[in-house]
Amino acid sequence: MAKVSIVKGGASPDAGEIRRMIEEAVDLLGGFKSIIKKGGTVAVKPNILTGKLSGPGVTTDPRVIEALVRLSFEAGAGEVRIVEGAGYGVPTSEALELAGMKRVAEETGAVLVDVDRDEILEVEVPDPLILEKIPVSRSFYEANVRINAPVMKTHDQLIMTLGMKNMKGIIQKPTKRLFHRIGLAKAVVDLNKAVPLDLTVVDAIHAMEGLGPSLGNVFEMDTVIASTDVYSLDIVGARIMGIDPGELEYMKYAAEQGLVRLDGGGIQMVGEPLESVARAFERPPMDLSPQEGITVIEKGACSACRGTIRSVYIDLENMGIMDRVRDLVMLVGPQAEIPEDLEETPLIMGICLHHLKDEGRYVVGCPPNNDKMREAIMELTGIEA
Ligand code: SF4
Repeated sequence: MAKVSIVKGGASPDAGEIRRMIEEAVDLLGGFKSIIKKGGTVAVKPNILTGKLSGPGVTTDPRVIEALVRLSFEAGAGEVRIVEGAGYGVPTSEALELAGMKRVAEETGAVLVDVDRDEILEVEVPDPLILEKIPVSRSFYEANVRINAPVMKTHDQLIMTLGMKNMKGIIQKPTKRLFHRIGLAKAVVDLNKAVPLDLTVVDAIHAMEGLGPSLGNVFEMDTVIASTDVYSLDIVGARIMGIDPGELEYMKYAAEQGLVRLDGGGIQMVGEPLESVARAFERPPMDLSPQEGITVIEKGACSACRGTIRSVYIDLENMGIMDRVRDLVMLVGPQAEIPEDLEETPLIMGICLHHLKDEGRYVVGCPPNNDKMREAIMELTGIEA
C-alpha cells in the first residue's frame, strides 16, 4: 500500500520549522535513512519555472531544497545534486540563480546541474503511451536516489501541477516543445514511467490557485506532503486542492495503465488528516480567449507562450485598454493553422510559426516578449495608448 504523509506546521514557518516538517513527513514514510543509500548520489528536482517570477508559491522555496539537501547528506549521501531545467524564455542557469538554488548549492555543498547543459541519456519508456524513448538529464537519471520537490499549484493547461508534471524539468527545452506538440498529458505519464522517483516532497508552505502556474494567487498553507509513490501523492494532492482526480487527463492515463486508482484505493494516509488541510482552490481559466473579440488559435503551444499571452492581458488591463481590444485573432503553437475563411489579419506568435510570418503580423521570439506582443496587438486593433 502506498503511503502519503501530510504535515501541517505553524504559521509562517522559518527554515528550522520547514526542515522539521519535511523530516517528520519523511519519517512517517520510514525516514530518510530508509531511502538514501550510504555514500550514493541523490538528485533533488525543484520547480523553478522561469525564475523570473520566483517567490513563494511560484518556485520551490529554497528553504525546502536546503532541508532536502542537508537531510540527504545527514542520512549518508556522498553527493547531492540540485537538477533542473527552466522553460522557454530564460536560460536555466539564470533561473536557478533567480530562484535561490545557486545560493543553496553554494551553502550546502550540493552540485548545481543545469539540465540544458547536462549530458543527455535516452531512456526507454515501459508500456509507452506516446513515446518509446525520452532523452533525459543524465545527472538526474543516474543518481542512486531521485527526489522531486514540486510546489502545489493550479495549471492553466492541466488544471493542476504537482509531482508528475514537475518531472518535465529533467528534459531539455526541445523535448519540452515535443511534449506540448504530441500531447502533454500522455508524455508526462511516459516520463514518470521512464524515470521512477524514490521520494516526492511537496512544498505547500505557500500554494497557488487561479491563474497558475505563475500568475495566480499565492496563499500560505504551511503544509508539506510526501510519498515514495508520485501517482498516489498526486491523487491526494488533487483532493487537497478540491479537484476530482478523474478530471485530470494525465491521472486518467496513469489509472488506465494500472499505476494508481482514481478513487484513492490502495493509498494509506499518515499524519494530518487530508480534510484538515483541504481547501477548494480557485480553478485556473483554461481558455486563452478571455473575452468576446479575442480569439486564440492554439495548438501544441508551450507554457511559456501561454504564460506570455496571459501576462500581456494583465498588461493591457493595467493600461486600461483591455476592454477596447476587438477583432483580434492570435495564432500560437507549432501546429496552429490559419482558418481558410479568416477575415482579420492574425497575430502570429513565436519562432515555431515562422513559416507563417508573411500571413499576418508576425511577432518573433521564443516566447516573444510582452512589449512586442503589446505593440502588435495595438497596431492590429488600432488602439492608441
Ligand atoms: S514560440 Fe513556439 S516553441 Fe517557442 S515557446 Fe512559444 S510555442 Fe513554444
